Amino acid sequence: MTVNNEGWGAFKTNKWLFTTPSSSGGRPQTPVSNSRVTDGENSLETPVKRANRPRTLSDRGNEILDNHEAVRSLYAWTWNELKENYPEKGISNPSVFCYAISCIQLLSHVPAVVRFLQEHRCQDHLCLACCWRRYFFHAQGKSAPIGWFADAFKKDRKFNAGLQEDAHDALLEILAKLDKAAAKNPPPLKNRKLSDDLFGYSIRNEVQCKRCQYKHVYYENNTVMTVRMMRKDPSGHRHSIKDLMRNLFNPSVISGYICTKCKNKNYEAPVKPTLLRAPQVLLLHISRFSYDKEARKISRPVTLNETLDVSSMATASQSTVYKFCGAIIHAGQQLDFGHYWCVTRSRRKENSLITLNDSQVFQHASLHDLPQSYIVMYRRKEHLPTENQPQPTAPNNDRSMI
Ligand SMILES: [Zn+2]
Ligand SMILES: [Zn+2]
Repeated sequence: MTVNNEGWGAFKTNKWLFTTPSSSGGRPQTPVSNSRVTDGENSLETPVKRANRPRTLSDRGNEILDNHEAVRSLYAWTWNELKENYPEKGISNPSVFCYAISCIQLLSHVPAVVRFLQEHRCQDHLCLACCWRRYFFHAQGKSAPIGWFADAFKKDRKFNAGLQEDAHDALLEILAKLDKAAAKNPPPLKNRKLSDDLFGYSIRNEVQCKRCQYKHVYYENNTVMTVRMMRKDPSGHRHSIKDLMRNLFNPSVISGYICTKCKNKNYEAPVKPTLLRAPQVLLLHISRFSYDKEARKISRPVTLNETLDVSSMATASQSTVYKFCGAIIHAGQQLDFGHYWCVTRSRRKENSLITLNDSQVFQHASLHDLPQSYIVMYRRKEHLPTENQPQPTAPNNDRSMI
């Protein structure tokens, strides 16, 4: 774990992406609302029709949603859509690579990532995607060292210092590498931005000027959603991941906001964030850093909800239900030391959890004994079998260790 600049007072964790003002002359011609998610006529417009009419601020929201729909047909979302069911295996850790191993293991349990790796080919012998594919598909049932991870980042001068690194940083770097590797993919995955396609989410922020009451809308796009630990509840109530996520979407204020219409500098302008685009796969990073006196880790447990419905945070209250699919745990009380390991749903038996701790793979008892979760992953409910549904049939090549 590393310390970043996100203090308690910071407004939001992620970068604000300011939309381009309307090309039709500044002020939107329609009320600033997401027409896509209302029952209005606009919701029936084709993307071509939409492109031919004057632009409004809400169009930016529609573009985000259009791309989101296109993504659905490009990747595999269930293991049944893949030709093979790959066995579970550990990865041996020669020194301090648990941060990388846990990220690789977590992402190796996303069907769409595995589909991406299956398709990818290139000539670069240090390519992360190629090395990952070779390891994943050929070291059948056996654990093997992760030297290829450091090699892939040699040119970037990252992850080569022999130090314990932060799993959140590693996760973002891995996703960036996969995005670059997409240039060598065959169609339709050629040049796709995998990180955004799979994990991308969009927040619609509505800021209201206190002087002229004009509402401005800004969209914020990101891939890994950072949620903060909340202040300790005096009653002893343990916060859940849903509490932390809801907290991110609570109405808030932004200081020093300059209204683009009346130019008034707002001491505190109210801002209302809502989730415009729910990701295909939800990746949450729990920021466990405290700055009260000195930088320290907040070790308080967070309850992991088995099911997560984000409708209360959604722009149009539309329901998207996620199910817990995996987590990276940071064991230890300090920021710079400790050990990362991973729990995921088994690729072969999705109704059971497995622990992947370096080279060890074993069945995991319960969601409740994961107190120090650091990265948490949820997949859409419709992509997972129900409790009573038969599991995907294991192909002949399956030599799973479980
Ligand atoms: Zn490659
Ligand atoms: Zn104003």
